Amino acid sequence: MDTDVKPALLTTDIPEIRSVGVVGAGQMGNGIAHVCALAGLPVTMVDIKQEALTKALATMARNMDRQVNRTLITADQRDEALARVKTSTDYAAFADADFVIEAATEKEDIKRAIYKALIPSLRPSCLLATNTSSISVTRLGASTDRPEKFIGMHFMNPVPVMKLVEIIRGIATDEPTFQAVKALAHKLGKVSAVAEDFPAFIVNRILVPMINEAVFALYEGVGSVSAIDDAMKLGANHPMGPLELADFIGLDTCLSIMQVLYDGLADSKYRPCPLLVKYVEAGWYGRKTGRGFYDYTQTPPKPTR
Ligand code: NAD
Repeated sequence: MDTDVKPALLTTDIPEIRSVGVVGAGQMGNGIAHVCALAGLPVTMVDIKQEALTKALATMARNMDRQVNRTLITADQRDEALARVKTSTDYAAFADADFVIEAATEKEDIKRAIYKALIPSLRPSCLLATNTSSISVTRLGASTDRPEKFIGMHFMNPVPVMKLVEIIRGIATDEPTFQAVKALAHKLGKVSAVAEDFPAFIVNRILVPMINEAVFALYEGVGSVSAIDDAMKLGANHPMGPLELADFIGLDTCLSIMQVLYDGLADSKYRPCPLLVKYVEAGWYGRKTGRGFYDYTQTPPKPTR
């Protein structure tokens, strides 16, 4: 018998995901809960902050209303989906989940602490995923009790609108976990792209250094905020300018991704722009805090430089 040939995976080997847990009710967490609930899956969302959960539910309802108005879904589908979402500040609420995805703040120590705290509440068969934009899936998985059932499932923002999901296997991720998560992405109406576990994967490896370069252009006085954004919208046909996009993603997240690229690839071309660092130090994270490269307390948002 040829021992090098792996037996084909039977469909019965692939775990079916029938219920979902989401950690972190920020902009990504509420989007992930939104698409899972609309696909018919019961969802439990956990955050350390009750106010984040309350805000997430309101955001989901508002975004689904918008989908109803655009006749993308019916009012009944909205009501049924919203009824499928439960929230809690306690990981014990994940006791029945087949799959838990962590979409908390992009900091490795925070994510590791979350896994440590939630693992005792999970069934042994529960798959665990991270929505990290950049951190090593292998390293995060190794900090859990189930590296073979741990995977990167990277949704794009805004989740209900963006088609792509990057799927990233850690070195220990097993084939049934990969197939189950691929099937989940398909069920959610997404197209998956498989990325290797290198810093920032595919989309952010290319996108975030471009944003960082736009911040350098601003820092060096090459152009104003409006000039840079208009130039890229009209000159490169980008739907959003890079600084507007940075505010949309969150400047804290953009900076974390640049730091992961800089540390992980040890190449000075990934040096975060000092102006990006300053904005994050000031707490100017973009849209989510009301100020970034634009001031969102004004309508339309006013460029800050
Ligand atoms: P966010 O700041 O909007 O939300 C993070 C949430 O995590 C907050 O509600 C916070 O209260 C919660 N949180 C922090 N510590 C926690 C803990 N110990 N337990 C439970 N909840 C905790 O951030 P976001 O933009 O939603 O990003 C979340 C993740 O998704 C990050 O890993 C980020 O890299 C990734 N991501 C972000 C984008 C984007 O465009 N913003 C896109 C793809 C992936």
